Amino acid sequence: MADEQITTIGRCHMCKRTFGFTPATVMTVAIDPASNLPLGMTISGVFREPTPEATVRAVKHPICSDCVNRVKQLSEFINPPALQFDTWQRGNP
Ligand SMILES: [Zn+2]
Repeated sequence: MADEQITTIGRCHMCKRTFGFTPATVMTVAIDPASNLPLGMTISGVFREPTPEATVRAVKHPICSDCVNRVKQLSEFINPPALQFDTWQRGNP
């Protein structure tokens, strides 16, 4: 058992399934405890830049590999490649 990686049993935040994971490598999702939604995600499913307050209070939860795959597909779906913030400039007062 000397070379075994330390695994932890936890509950996937998304599908609530209990699974074993290695804390150093597991994917986590930052959940805003105020809304119980992933950081930056709004109730309507639209992703927004999280507020600094939300970033501070967010708690990281492990998610299982099944859900990681689902989130990856979803994020490709909700992030159109045409979205560009770098060309948008704030007006100078
Ligand atoms: Zn899951």
